[in-house]
Amino acid sequence: MKKKIKIAFWGVRGSIPTHKIDHSAYGGHTSCVALSYGNSDFICDAGTGIRLLGQKIAKKKSNTYIFLSHLHWDHLFGLPFFAPLYQNRKIVLGGPKNGNGASFKKTLWQIMSPPFFPVDPLTWRAKIKWIDLKPKKARLDDGVRFECRWVDHTDPALGFKFIFPNGKSVIYVADQELKTGNKSFAQWIRGSDLLIHDAQYDPSQYSRHRGWGHSNFEEVVKIAMKSGVKTLVLFHHDPDSNDGLLKKRLEWCRKFLKQKRSPMTCLLAKEQTSLQI
Ligand SMILES: [Zn+2]
Ligand SMILES: [Zn+2]
Repeated sequence: MKKKIKIAFWGVRGSIPTHKIDHSAYGGHTSCVALSYGNSDFICDAGTGIRLLGQKIAKKKSNTYIFLSHLHWDHLFGLPFFAPLYQNRKIVLGGPKNGNGASFKKTLWQIMSPPFFPVDPLTWRAKIKWIDLKPKKARLDDGVRFECRWVDHTDPALGFKFIFPNGKSVIYVADQELKTGNKSFAQWIRGSDLLIHDAQYDPSQYSRHRGWGHSNFEEVVKIAMKSGVKTLVLFHHDPDSNDGLLKKRLEWCRKFLKQKRSPMTCLLAKEQTSLQI
């Protein structure tokens, strides 16, 4: 039997963590998704959700990768609380260079040092392999193929594509203002098994935040559907979107896809849940 990929959601919120009773169904931690396959864990982003994930990974030996889509706070400020960094093990840590060309390592080091944070990466016991991520194809552990591409955000940001030996593909795009007419992106996601994509706003929120680098979820649904995506997971929920509002969003998606007779499945990313494909 072919091995399955487990996709676990540890942080699904955008911009800033939120802790309110009417946000608890979907969760308040910022971006962190773990793809586990064979003996490898591929972690996308290190928002506040990474802390609890770290407690699990610290108990096992695995090939551990952390890829940051970009350097905005909500995607990295959980990193120093990732327990495996303080263990004697190897970790691959990658992210894009900053907009001025400084390496990912140098940029991250500055943020993770005093006066911004009390302990710097010299305190990490893990042996880190630092990588400047850029649009390129690579082969990772367990035969997983990996590809990056630039996406449309306010600062340099990457989308990730993982192609697994079981034939399935998973795409992660945390922050992107996706617009109709972005043909090269539509082509890139064509036929993917799972697309996790920024869906921060509904149309009325989007009308007030045009140019902020985040998507109107209705556009994302339409583009994913036309590109033959099998399952779409709406991600990076706005901190002002409560559970009721998010549930309505899901109802809209299901109604729309039914009307269009689309076979695509649409889900809302929910903290502490996982999928297998
Ligand atoms: Zn973000
Ligand atoms: Zn961002």
